[in-house]
Amino acid sequence: MPSFPLRDEVTRLLQQLIRLDTVNPPGNETRAAELLRAYLEQYGLRTALYAREPHRANLVARLPGRDPEAPRLLFLSHTDTVLADPAEWTVDPWSGELRDGHVWGRGALDMKGQAAAAAVAMAALASEGFEPEGDILYAATADEEVGEGYGVSWLCEEHPEAVRATYCVNEGGGDRIVAGGRVFYLCATSEKASSPFRLLVRGRSGHASMPGLGDNALVRAAALIAGLARAETPLRLLPETQEFLSRLLATDVVDPAVALASLRSLSPAAVATVEPMLRTTISPTQITASGKRNVIPGTCEVRCDCRILPTETQEEVEATIRAALGEDGYELDWLEPPDGGSRSSFATPLWEASAAFVEATEPGAQLVPILLPGFTDSHYLRTAFGTIAYGFFPTKAMPAELAARLVHSADERAAVDDLELGVRYLLHVAKELMR
Ligand SMILES: [Zn+2]
Repeated sequence: MPSFPLRDEVTRLLQQLIRLDTVNPPGNETRAAELLRAYLEQYGLRTALYAREPHRANLVARLPGRDPEAPRLLFLSHTDTVLADPAEWTVDPWSGELRDGHVWGRGALDMKGQAAAAAVAMAALASEGFEPEGDILYAATADEEVGEGYGVSWLCEEHPEAVRATYCVNEGGGDRIVAGGRVFYLCATSEKASSPFRLLVRGRSGHASMPGLGDNALVRAAALIAGLARAETPLRLLPETQEFLSRLLATDVVDPAVALASLRSLSPAAVATVEPMLRTTISPTQITASGKRNVIPGTCEVRCDCRILPTETQEEVEATIRAALGEDGYELDWLEPPDGGSRSSFATPLWEASAAFVEATEPGAQLVPILLPGFTDSHYLRTAFGTIAYGFFPTKAMPAELAARLVHSADERAAVDDLELGVRYLLHVAKELMR
């Protein structure tokens, strides 16, 4: 192929994207959508903007396939970011400065870097005249960080034909880890569901100067909070976590507790990130009691973040909670239905193409599936269209622990080597799946 300047293009495009402030709220993603649209149109790609409100536009670009019935491949990225406090940063978070082989700025890792890389991959495919079997789609979408219905969820409902795809590459994975002397790249094939609940504890209010006359709901709640921290949700293996742990530990894993113990001796630091893949987690995070210091609270509300395994139900989790806390002394309410909790198979052509890329990039390295403790926009596509959606954008130059610390934090930056690697991965997938 005539050499397309992948490295320079992705660096420059990411710098430009970072310089557009798309902190959500308020988002203003139209700025990014228009920049990307202009970039892609230079290469003759067909584009369209879809916006529920004018300043929250989503961009979709298309490289048309030879066969309209053939599987479609979607490169998905969100263009909004979380906020940044310049006082905490070494550089201006909206400078897009190139320093020490990294592009610095808010969104470099989450996920303007991948948005830029996918745009450059589309441009490279178009400029070399690649004619895919099925459509290759590029979507740069709004409102992932807040999720109030301007982005992928809205597109799936209002413009399903724009984003309907058989395969999707999105955020959520790509970390490179080393365990037992072997190298693994993590691919997020499934996600937990978010399912917050609250405990309401009742007592009797009274003057705080005479505690014996009241019945302090906050004090009652304290024992329940401690009970929540002790609640042992069952450890469970899903096919993806069984595969992950079997590869990681180089043995056939059948018992999650035994696997967790083996992992603890192999890599104690890994337990905190792996254990949430094996069980539902409950984290009490918010409490509301008396509005006045001198009034004993008659009620106390404890709100809990709860992340449910995709194969479990609220009823099952509630039974575990009630077993830990006892039946009396509180009311438990689920605040909303489970959000997320979707899975894609890892026996697919997209998996094969991704695994082959990893092996070619770093001989001996293995692609392994993981269950994301959080969730991404992939679940909207899986739910709406049965899309095989993976979170994967390989990072090799930047250590996974550093990347994890920088996301949503100060001095976020992406290694130019990784940006180029990401473009090459997306090109590889496009050509393998759509030739
Ligand atoms: Zn993100």
